[in-house]
Amino acid sequence: MKCAQYADWLQLSVDGRLDADKQCILQEHLAGCPLCQHDYALLEEVRDALAMPVVAEIDLTDAIRQRVAQYELALVARRERRHALNRDLLGRGAIVVILVMLAIAFLQPGLWHSTTHLVQRTWPQVLTLLLSPGPNSIAWAVWGAAALVAVALVLWLKRTEALATWRRTLEERLPQIW
Ligand SMILES: [Zn+2]
Repeated sequence: MKCAQYADWLQLSVDGRLDADKQCILQEHLAGCPLCQHDYALLEEVRDALAMPVVAEIDLTDAIRQRVAQYELALVARRERRHALNRDLLGRGAIVVILVMLAIAFLQPGLWHSTTHLVQRTWPQVLTLLLSPGPNSIAWAVWGAAALVAVALVLWLKRTEALATWRRTLEERLPQIW
């Protein structure tokens, strides 16, 4: 066989699609033919060159994606830190303003006295109102206490797993009901 007739086999061999018998014949020829060795090497180079950019592209895309993700995370973290700092400053500023206003208010002559006097005068009225019967002849104080207990119960339930379980069951059952 002449070299030109091995051309197809060379290509198939490089692609790994040449059957074993032909591969043996080709190897024998290659061993004694520098021209076909050269062609074989060239075909391998072409194959690698075609394969490499694809691999490189995937790696590059992944690398870029990772960099972008890291950048986004850093950005979010930085923004969150700045917001927390702003909230902190705002909270401290508000406390300082309130303290200064209270100090100014109580430094006014007679204001402290009039305030305590007002509390002393209105407190018995509030007490009387609380003890007086409201709807269903139940004292307002009891209604208020019941409302406080209800709020406390709701807050407690919000923190417990019990509500989550209950909510999950409800969510599962709701589609069946609707
Ligand atoms: Zn040859």
